[in-house]
Amino acid sequence: AGKNDGKGRYRFFDPTLSNSLRARSRLKQNLMEAIEDDQFVLHYQPRVDPRDGRLLSMEALLRWQHPALGMVPPGEFIPLAESTGMILRIGELVMDKACAQVAAWRSEGAPLVPVSINVSARQFQRGLVPQQLAAALARHGVPGSLVEVEITESAMMSDQDAILAELAELRALGIKLHVDDFGTGYSSLSQLQRLRMDVLKVDRAFTAELGKSNEGTVFFQAIVSMAHALGMGVVAEGVETMEQLAILRGLGCNEVQGFLVARPMPAREMAQMMKRRYLIDTAVRVA
Ligand code: C2E
Ligand code: MG
Ligand code: MG
Ligand code: MG
Repeated sequence: AGKNDGKGRYRFFDPTLSNSLRARSRLKQNLMEAIEDDQFVLHYQPRVDPRDGRLLSMEALLRWQHPALGMVPPGEFIPLAESTGMILRIGELVMDKACAQVAAWRSEGAPLVPVSINVSARQFQRGLVPQQLAAALARHGVPGSLVEVEITESAMMSDQDAILAELAELRALGIKLHVDDFGTGYSSLSQLQRLRMDVLKVDRAFTAELGKSNEGTVFFQAIVSMAHALGMGVVAEGVETMEQLAILRGLGCNEVQGFLVARPMPAREMAQMMKRRYLIDTAVRVA
């Protein structure tokens, strides 16, 4: 052990491998500290009506405020949190923080709109999502109608029967169900209807195609008309340009979310936005 094969291809103690293992275990240790020291915060990104720019709802997005590293985006720690099972505890924190924030906004008299939270497949596999979310709602006195759950297509396809029961429990709490990153997985619209999903959140890869090619627009149009025919709403993710917004309005897309409207922001800034109600001027003409 510890030798290479003479051609420099294999060494048992590969320094890069051990470096990455060390980095992984350091990250894991840091994540455990983050849970204990409450270093997680939620940022909020608004969703608006493409016809008039009115605030309709928002998404809670997890941020890790590390004392030395600064703001760590979820893409850098959610995968490890999932593979280690820490996502179960972190997911519970997310539910609690989102409900606490809704309750705080409510007591400030802010005009309330529903807040969606992201729930990963690992959380659903444990079967604890409905109880945990019901407990968070009750703890903060928040009605289920003010919370929505986002679940990716791939997460829903893994164990349909178990997830079907959990989704039914969430629905009984008055919680609307969103299919996140729609179009990137392999679910059919009939499966999604069977699971009684309320809203399709079309992945931003498809939004990016709008206006670039005729196919891009036709594809989106097909999703909107099928979703509507099946009684589901449509949210476009990653809307960055007025041209995309104008096309989406023409297609009858129900809500848009993206940097064009606003980037995810801390709760205090979001409260200011909530007072404005109309977040962008959709009357601006596309050149
Ligand atoms: P997602 O749920 O699909 O969230 C949308 C992501 O797109 C967010 O990235 C958001 O900041 C970004 N985004 C929004 N508008 C635009 C735009 O116009 N252009 C571009 N290029 N990007 C835009 P973020 O916050 O880094 O989150 C990444 C992913 O991490 C999320 O994807 C979600 O899968 C996961 N995540 C975030 N918060 C949580 C959480 O609380 N729990 C779990 N399990 N996963 C979470
Ligand atoms: Mg999401
Ligand atoms: Mg998404
Ligand atoms: Mg995503």
